Amino acid sequence: MVVAGGLVIGVLALQGDVREHLYALAEAGVLARPIRRPAELDQIDALVVPGGESTTMSKLAIEFGLLEPIQKMIADGLPAYGSCAGMIMLSGEVLDGRPDQRSFGGIDMTVRRNAFGRQVDSFEASVELEGIEGGAFHAVFIRAPWVERVGEAVRVVGRVTDGPAAGRIVAVRQENLLATAFHPELTGDLRVHQFFVDMVRGVRDDAEG
Ligand code: GLN
Repeated sequence: MVVAGGLVIGVLALQGDVREHLYALAEAGVLARPIRRPAELDQIDALVVPGGESTTMSKLAIEFGLLEPIQKMIADGLPAYGSCAGMIMLSGEVLDGRPDQRSFGGIDMTVRRNAFGRQVDSFEASVELEGIEGGAFHAVFIRAPWVERVGEAVRVVGRVTDGPAAGRIVAVRQENLLATAFHPELTGDLRVHQFFVDMVRGVRDDAEG
């Protein structure tokens, strides 16, 4: 199979909305592969961590022997994008997690799980994303985290612009790691996946945002 640019992007396929990310990445013009075993990590240029349930994902990552290899690859510079539970998995610090919950880390930030509370468990809101053209992103949040603290190396890429959670940080980037609290894989708007693919290709360097 010949794919423009020859990039292979893995989607962590332990749990969550794996298929939707595989589809979005394929639409964005890369070869997308599900990742379930450590050996499969050798074949990828970047990793997407899907939405789902971070406690379950953490447990399965440990069981499948993926936690440490992925932690190390991310620390060594593997580009990664996480949506919702995936954002939690890329976070250095997790609030309101289970005590035995582990993350891959990589982004120097603190996220709070299920932060938006019961009344706004699932909601939709507009998010302006820095570096992504074409207007505000229509973002779908499902028991989403928000970002409570970012380190100096982290760039805030998006905040909720309206509704009860206005101002909350919901998209961040640290070098070649990207995370959103919402699920672009569910809405058919490919701009976030395209942004990530361009990032992996090196088209969008940090200065560009
Ligand atoms: N609340 C979930 C968690 O803690 C995330 C929800 C999602 O990915 N839609 O992992």
